Amino acid sequence: MNNVIVPPPAPKLTVRNTADVFPVHRIYCVGRNYAEHAREMGHDPDREPPFFFQKNPDSLVPDGGKFPYPDKTNEVHHEIEMVVALGAGGKDIAAADALNHVYGYAVGLDMTRRDLQGQMKAAGRPWEIGKAFEFAAPCSEIVPITQTGHPAQGAIWLKVNGKTRQYGDLNQMIWSVPDTIAYLSGLFTLAAGDLIYTGTPAGVAAVQRGDVLHGGIDGIGELRITVV
Ligand code: MN
Repeated sequence: MNNVIVPPPAPKLTVRNTADVFPVHRIYCVGRNYAEHAREMGHDPDREPPFFFQKNPDSLVPDGGKFPYPDKTNEVHHEIEMVVALGAGGKDIAAADALNHVYGYAVGLDMTRRDLQGQMKAAGRPWEIGKAFEFAAPCSEIVPITQTGHPAQGAIWLKVNGKTRQYGDLNQMIWSVPDTIAYLSGLFTLAAGDLIYTGTPAGVAAVQRGDVLHGGIDGIGELRITVV
């Protein structure tokens, strides 16, 4: 049988120190996973179970890429995040077994039309227009666990035009990677190829055309994106 349209390209990310690629299935994101960021957004971090939203895999932007300033917004925020890349999936994965499902880690940016997200929050509507637009998911190369281990602490930072905007430590995450995988796998059937953006530390702010976003995570790597 023939395709009746040209099949869309399969989203993928490169894998560090190899000629291989990591095919991406879904992109899940954790909301408010660092207490200081939850507070800066006006929430009490002690009261909430984890919650999730999704981005589209064809919104990935590779390291060194360009982020076109999106339409219908005057307030686009950066959120630097550790990204977990799953090498195996499942349902109802136990936290104690969760890290056995991780292929590797990456440095990501959860780009957000904050004004539109705020309008949707206020109206009790879904966040898609704030979170799931084109180019909204810059992500570095995937670094296999054979090169990183499972980082649970270490600096996570973002500079804009050389000035530090966001700074935190992975050990400030409210929901650890094993807890996140366990919780998420109770809601969705996870699969090899899934990415999980694990939330951002405090310091989110607006970007402008021409800004150079340079982020990194100790033990994983760095990500550079230019806003155009
Ligand atoms: Mn985020």
